[in-house]
Amino acid sequence: MITDYQRLAVMNKNHLWHPFTQMKDYNNSDPLIIERGEGIKLYDVQGRAYYDGFSSVWLNVHGHNVPELNQAITEQLGRVAHSTLLGMANIPAIELAEKLVAITPAGLNKVFYSDSGATGVEIAIKMAFQYWHNQGIGSKTKFITMNQAYHGDTIGAVSVGAIPLYHDVFRPMLFPSHVIPYPYAYRHEGGETKALEATLAALHHLLETRADEIAALIVEPIVQGASGIIVMPHGCLRQMAAMCRKYDVLLIADEVATGFGRTGAMFACDLEDVSPDLMVIGKGLTGGYLPVAATLASDVVYEAFYADYHEQKTFFHGHSYTGNPLGCAVALASLKLFEERNMVEGVRTKAAFVEHKLAALKDRPHVGEIRQKGLMIGIELVRDKASREPYDWAEQIGVRTSLRARELSMLTRPLGNVIVFIPPLVSSEAELEAMIDILAESIISVTEGGSIA
Ligand SMILES: *Cc1c(COP(=O)(O)O)cnc(C)c1O
Repeated sequence: MITDYQRLAVMNKNHLWHPFTQMKDYNNSDPLIIERGEGIKLYDVQGRAYYDGFSSVWLNVHGHNVPELNQAITEQLGRVAHSTLLGMANIPAIELAEKLVAITPAGLNKVFYSDSGATGVEIAIKMAFQYWHNQGIGSKTKFITMNQAYHGDTIGAVSVGAIPLYHDVFRPMLFPSHVIPYPYAYRHEGGETKALEATLAALHHLLETRADEIAALIVEPIVQGASGIIVMPHGCLRQMAAMCRKYDVLLIADEVATGFGRTGAMFACDLEDVSPDLMVIGKGLTGGYLPVAATLASDVVYEAFYADYHEQKTFFHGHSYTGNPLGCAVALASLKLFEERNMVEGVRTKAAFVEHKLAALKDRPHVGEIRQKGLMIGIELVRDKASREPYDWAEQIGVRTSLRARELSMLTRPLGNVIVFIPPLVSSEAELEAMIDILAESIISVTEGGSIA
């Protein structure tokens, strides 16, 4: 008899094309098919439970199947599922915009909705570009980004992306951006101080020589995510922001990964008191429930578009589902839980607990560096600890370690040789400890061929 699993696995293989997945490898493996979620666990169609150790790719905040969030959607569904934001408004979109302005850094007073981090980035890029155009400054058209940056997969976002593996194939169709080094202390000869100096010097040089051609700098504040969870040296973001201000270049903070408590502050910009001109949020905005993103703009940016119609300064951009009421309703309910449950403070306490527990892994022979900001953790595995020699990419050490974790009932997805641990913010200390035990066991068994016991 064909089981449900076999039936679904065949259809999956026949018809689904998965993101960021070499389908030839995937189709030779047994697919994981999720049926439901509860708390921080996901259950597959065969009834096996897994810890969601990467928050379903960095989205989930309060866990799965949360009564308060479910209820917010159901109540809104009883009113209306969707109505457009083109020239009209809806209740949850208004209420959420007010709330977002209240919790984001000072000065960001306008909210433009979209439906993914990438579209939010496109909007920020187009706003920055048109901001200068609308003022009659036609020369400021270029963007600065940071080495190994990731801002999403649409063409504009890829144009300010700098991860060769993902982005190089598309280079001929992209607009060129200036790339400055990201301060990756572990892989910089001079360590943290020199890495920071190199970044600031490169930015300074670019601004000194070309500020009149540059519209904006886009940055993943404090933690560069997709490159391998790389934490900036203290003060880097603040100094970059000050330089942008001085040279009249806009600052776009891409908080898609870092926003909503993930780093131990509501937004990573808060950690260094930075108020960007444009800020992109997504991922955790709806608690990981529905695809809503937003681009927040300062009054100064907004006012450059505010004019008589015939001046043609309108921002001609929008998406079918911009300001979706179901998504906005669940985002509001999520933010209510943030307040009621003191989530951000909770992240700081839990982060200290996690740091303490992970310290036991520091001396393992293939653990190169453990990087952490709040509940955003990356563990870089290396072939040789002393020389920091990386594993060859073809060895797929991260993939193998993550597969081992799955066998031990925890889901995560690596970034090359970096093991990712990004648990839902709601995770209890007992759950965090259980997940860290699985992480440790996976890393040790794959890199040392042994076991902790
Ligand atoms: C995930 C991510 C994006 C893209 O968001 P999508 O919703 O996947 O389009 C953009 N920027 C950063 C920093 C991200 O981590």
